Amino acid sequence: MKFREVLDNIKIYEAGKPIELVVREFGIDPKDVVKLASNENPKGVSPKVSKAIVDNASKAFLYPDDSMFELKDGLAKKFDVKSENIIIGAGSDQVLDFISRVILEPNDKVLMSAVTFAMYEVYARQMGAEIIRTKNYKHIVDEFIEEYQKHKPKIVYICTPNNPTGDATTKDDVLAIINAIDKDTMIVVDGAYMEYAIAKDEKYRVTPNDLIGFENVIYLGTFSKAYGLGGMRVGYGIANNTIITALHKMRPPFNITTLSLVAGIEALKDEQFVDSSIELHRQEITRYEEFAKDNNFDYIDSYTNFITYLFNDDMSSTKISNALLKKGVIIRDLASYGMNAIRITVGTEKQNSRLFKILKESIN
Ligand SMILES: *Cc1c(COP(=O)(O)O)cnc(C)c1O
Repeated sequence: MKFREVLDNIKIYEAGKPIELVVREFGIDPKDVVKLASNENPKGVSPKVSKAIVDNASKAFLYPDDSMFELKDGLAKKFDVKSENIIIGAGSDQVLDFISRVILEPNDKVLMSAVTFAMYEVYARQMGAEIIRTKNYKHIVDEFIEEYQKHKPKIVYICTPNNPTGDATTKDDVLAIINAIDKDTMIVVDGAYMEYAIAKDEKYRVTPNDLIGFENVIYLGTFSKAYGLGGMRVGYGIANNTIITALHKMRPPFNITTLSLVAGIEALKDEQFVDSSIELHRQEITRYEEFAKDNNFDYIDSYTNFITYLFNDDMSSTKISNALLKKGVIIRDLASYGMNAIRITVGTEKQNSRLFKILKESIN
């Protein structure tokens, strides 16, 4: 069987390891497994959302409302935009896929930061595009403009806050990059962790409304992180009509499930759950900062629900990740991103205490 040549350049995305794997491979009791690898909300699902999913379970035989009227209406009100400016995806991942498919021809280029969300590269390579990266993982305005002018990419990705590093780009800098780029290049502003950045510092607040006036910019958001719905696969893109219409041509019918729609709609009504999730996070992340200082290694100041620990040469991120895994603590090794670093989702108080204990033992 001969497959498309572009597949030779695609590494299969390695998702965070599931709890089941640790149970199977190391014989650890599921209740002793601490999963801090995929930036899920440690508070779990909002009880109101959970109830709505159960209450609607008997509707699972029905196809969902493909117009997604109520969910779009909720998002439109939240962001002060029109429903027609919104597209819903099975996670914002699916919207990223639509974007590369409406833009990229073979050998086109895309531009992104040195270390950023892995799926930008995968979707671009699927279309046969070439990946250009800046030198710095931070989105530095001059560096983006320079690389843009040199390579004229068809898509520029701005991930703010950035995953897997945790840094963020100010609204002023996002706008400076956008304003320096011609209108025939699509700019994706991925705000998967925006709720956390806003809670930390207002100058990082970038809203769909700030961007919708640009004809070549799309904002992406997700219910997978602060809203606690990673397993329901609901994300969205917000942009002007022309972009949204093009993206809809790539969308399969019923691309999110009947119960995912219910969950998203209900989650938007429970802002208090999001606020309390962020509050828990704000308290717990200070313990991670202190732990790094106490143990003499560096970390990246985080605007997300995770923290990235940077190790010195005398420590190996891979060895440490493996040692943690054997003890039932799942985190993310960033060696495959070229960093001697680990990314840890900030968990509950109890999960974090366990992580500190095991990490301390592994370091020593
Ligand atoms: C988690 C994440 C997404 C998308 O997640 P979905 O679950 O597909 O909505 C997009 N971008 C970044 C940077 C992420 O971390």
